[in-house]
Amino acid sequence: MTVVLLIADGARPDTLTRAIASGRAPALARLAAEGDERVITSVFPSVTGPAYLPFLTGCHPGRLGIPGIRWWHRSSRRARSYVGIEAMVADRDLHPDHPMLFESVPQAIAALSPFNRGLTRTQRLDGSAAFWLRLAWHHFRGDLPGWLRFEQEFAAAFTRRVREERPPFAMLALPGIDKCSHRFGHEAFDVLHAVEVVDATVAQLQRDADRAGRTIEIWITSDHGHATVTAHDDLAEHLRAEGYGVRAHPWTMTGGDDVAVMVSGNAMAHLYLDLASRERHGWDHHRARWSPLVEWLLRRESLDLVLLPLGPDRCEVHGRERGMAIVSRADDGHYGYRMVTGDPLGLLATAGRASALDRLDTAAAHALTADTEHPDALVQILALTNSSRSGEILCSAAPGWDFRERYEPIPHRSCHGALHREQMRVPLLMSHRASGIPRRTVDLYPSLLTALGQRPRTPIDGISFR
Ligand SMILES: [Zn+2]
Repeated sequence: MTVVLLIADGARPDTLTRAIASGRAPALARLAAEGDERVITSVFPSVTGPAYLPFLTGCHPGRLGIPGIRWWHRSSRRARSYVGIEAMVADRDLHPDHPMLFESVPQAIAALSPFNRGLTRTQRLDGSAAFWLRLAWHHFRGDLPGWLRFEQEFAAAFTRRVREERPPFAMLALPGIDKCSHRFGHEAFDVLHAVEVVDATVAQLQRDADRAGRTIEIWITSDHGHATVTAHDDLAEHLRAEGYGVRAHPWTMTGGDDVAVMVSGNAMAHLYLDLASRERHGWDHHRARWSPLVEWLLRRESLDLVLLPLGPDRCEVHGRERGMAIVSRADDGHYGYRMVTGDPLGLLATAGRASALDRLDTAAAHALTADTEHPDALVQILALTNSSRSGEILCSAAPGWDFRERYEPIPHRSCHGALHREQMRVPLLMSHRASGIPRRTVDLYPSLLTALGQRPRTPIDGISFR
């Protein structure tokens, strides 16, 4: 048997259901009818790179030391960005103590995964310099029809290798839906062309398996959703105008030592304070000097949530015009939410409680938040703010906004990155039915291992639904 994981990068649940309803995705329609179709939640930040780690390791990205697609490395006082050439060092930045799926399945093959630890060059379809030159050519020119032709070609190369080598596990990421959504908007007709590439790949895999009389399990999900963006609030530029010394991509070597603005997706940002310091401190250490900056942020229409980590397992959550509450996790792993000046996540009205929620395990914390504006917020906030590589202030954008105006190869009409419903919810389509409850993308890793006859070797965040 071969287990195939297809990442339809940037696909919202309704992107796939719309394609199925329009009759343009017959192979996906068959999966939904004969297998299982669910909506699960991704991670914060909901951005390519960090949001692949759940499938590959079963852990939230903050725990693995990858807090964003861009982040500030305090100890070396340098910025990181996996958008360009530094994508090559992503595997090295990853904490070594959690095995990756590829390390558990020695004959796996993969294409276009942002993390590749455990794969040899021949196991990667994207292992050659020629491949990366072509990829960069299409990516930086912003030529989407050219990109989709390129994607069709390497999807064909992928299905050919699955047919010929019969690997136990094969993963293919297809970024076309994400690229078309950024450029045209996630609701645009052009996005369907990218869904057709995913559909054709599934159809080919199933045809090949039927012809050879082999069993194939197909799992399709996405790393993040998409939300329409109509205005860009370039936080780095505006902070410079306020007189702060700011470092932000692409100019990270100079600019001053007050704040580093590291944007992901582009609807979330880590703000790192006092860059001369190589140590990360909790908000109480910074409160006296930096409260005016937080007040300035909370006056901006672009802000939905401002997170101020207080220390391990405790974080102030400020909602614009909705006050502040504290999210916490007790030693026994139960989550709590306590109103201080308001209910920024809107959870207390839902739960019918006066001022606090406590003793929520991860399943209850998910159930309580899954259908709100901020799905899985309690778990996701602490999973990210606990990371030693996260900023001192974390910003999540309001619907319609992102935090970066310039320097994109494609002008963004749709975005992701935020801890917000449209960006956090992703589809899960499978050729078989789940026996448990799929909740989060971290659940995929243990479930895939179960399908492969294995178990996780280290403690992880996900729970198998296989
Ligand atoms: Zn994207």
